[in-house]
Amino acid sequence: MRLLSTLALGAFVLPVAAQASDPHSYAQPQDVVISHIDLKLAVDFPHKQLGGTATLTLDWKNPDAHDLVLDTENLAIASIEAVDTKGHAHALHYALAEPVKAMGRKLTIDAPEHPREIRIAYKTSPDASGLQWLAAAQTADKHLPFLFSQSEATHARSWIPLQDSPAIRFTYTAHVTAPNDVRVVMSAPNVPKHPLDGSFDFEQTHPIPSYLMAIAAGDLAVRETGPRSAVYAEPSVLAKAAHEFEDTEQMIATTEKLYGPYRWGRYDILVLPPSFPYGGMENPNMTFATPTVLVGDKSLVSLVAHELAHSWSGNLVTNASWRDTWLNEGFTTYVQGRITEALYGQSQATEETLLAVRNLEKTIGKMPENAQRLAPQPRTVDADDELSDVAYDKGSWFLRTLEAKFGRKDFDAWLEGYFNHFQWHSITTEQMLAYLKPSLIDKYPGRMSWEEVQAWVYGTGIPKDAPIPDSPRFDAIDRERNEFLAGTLAAGKLDAKGWNTQEWMYFLDRLPDTPPLAKMQELDAAWHLTGTPNAEIGMRWYVHAIAAGDKAAWPAAAEHATRIGRLYLTMPIYKAFVATPEGFAYAEQVYAKAKDGYHPLTRMAVEKLFARTRAAQASAAADKG
Ligand SMILES: [Zn+2]
Repeated sequence: MRLLSTLALGAFVLPVAAQASDPHSYAQPQDVVISHIDLKLAVDFPHKQLGGTATLTLDWKNPDAHDLVLDTENLAIASIEAVDTKGHAHALHYALAEPVKAMGRKLTIDAPEHPREIRIAYKTSPDASGLQWLAAAQTADKHLPFLFSQSEATHARSWIPLQDSPAIRFTYTAHVTAPNDVRVVMSAPNVPKHPLDGSFDFEQTHPIPSYLMAIAAGDLAVRETGPRSAVYAEPSVLAKAAHEFEDTEQMIATTEKLYGPYRWGRYDILVLPPSFPYGGMENPNMTFATPTVLVGDKSLVSLVAHELAHSWSGNLVTNASWRDTWLNEGFTTYVQGRITEALYGQSQATEETLLAVRNLEKTIGKMPENAQRLAPQPRTVDADDELSDVAYDKGSWFLRTLEAKFGRKDFDAWLEGYFNHFQWHSITTEQMLAYLKPSLIDKYPGRMSWEEVQAWVYGTGIPKDAPIPDSPRFDAIDRERNEFLAGTLAAGKLDAKGWNTQEWMYFLDRLPDTPPLAKMQELDAAWHLTGTPNAEIGMRWYVHAIAAGDKAAWPAAAEHATRIGRLYLTMPIYKAFVATPEGFAYAEQVYAKAKDGYHPLTRMAVEKLFARTRAAQASAAADKG
């Protein structure tokens, strides 16, 4: 809220009261908002704790407001004080409510005098849902312990007491201490040549939402990949990562040409240990990335294109609540495709688009109706569950439809205008639509009706005229797969030597859900898929091999699921195992061994799946009885 004066288009002001209330936060932004956070934290590896103070600078909105209400989860609060302009502090009364699932504990601080600053002394829990603490033995180089955060969607509250809603933006400063030899990085400009002296200072001068608060600490080496970009990774991973991500500067320049300047200064990439639960996280100035994209041939670097694209869609223009996630992820997936096309060619971009499109076509009809909508009606789900394929792939499909209807030139100009208009703001779907109507739909009449737009945003399924790109290479793979399954083409005769990652993904994705065992064995004998180092191919292969009953693939599938904690690459394997009682028993053994190396979010996901499976088995047994 403090940067309103920098708005390029003058008249646009986002009234706080008009923001949709956020069902995933206790914050009361109509009363007061945080405008700045100053953190003083110590990284305590032996106790798996961050401890220190968070000083919140407050912008009081309602003269009658009595309290500051914050989101917290699993924090041990030692004291809360009001700090006056001279630095004098006095204790404030506060109440911490009982924990509520997926919400944490509501913290209500008595502050009728509306202090400008409130200082909270606290410690995190070793089980904080937003932090993962790895022992040295769980890292690649086994030299130092490792810490990283994952705040999206609602986990910042597990390591900082704050208003944990994407509608509220603030700047931050931080002073972090850690053992010598450990490098600390945050979602703010980082200094590649910073000495490893145990003391790090950060300043994020742009207002960001809470889910972009991020920290990592460990045995991190740095290699610069361009004038404003560097890769951070454990020493043994650094060279491979720097090679895979060497096009980063070109990516930034390409995106700037399309959508205007990169506003953040530096753009660095941190490669995390394989337990990172997501592919990447667009933390400002420092993308956090999974090492599973380091496959040697840059075929998976669209992940970096995606996280970089968030510097415009998401970090610059932000969804006001998790119900509006498609404004972050749909726009970003669209921009990612455009970056990929500009750097790696149309064929590569089309293949990535088609993989997503075909997958969504297959799955969207099976989802509950409300979940099929880009902007769902209010519902009570865990904010993490709002991150579905619909937000990403139906969202980007809608934007590709707009591009097709209005032409690339006019649509590109519109999208750049959208980023400029809403920069540094958090907006709802309805605010986006109110901008879209006059600036594109009505400006070029006859191209697309308002009813069609509404059907995309509020309707279920995929509209019938949604454009699907052509890929002759994928068409050839469809023919080969059919012939192979029909028995007219031997596995060894598949033209797969030159297939890239996406082409293998496409071949495997469209195998029958339960393929014949003999066919899977023939495929494996010819192409050695069991044990592949490429985790995208491995995940798809193991899912089909397990479904076919190919027990020879079980140990390699277990090794994959143990080594990798990324939800998207590991959960499908657990799901394939639990389909049979014998597979379920095996999956339970795999999990018991893998668990300590998993992120809290991955543990939660596996345990949820096991509980559902047990319940289903129990009800099936009751039916028989
Ligand atoms: Zn994203």
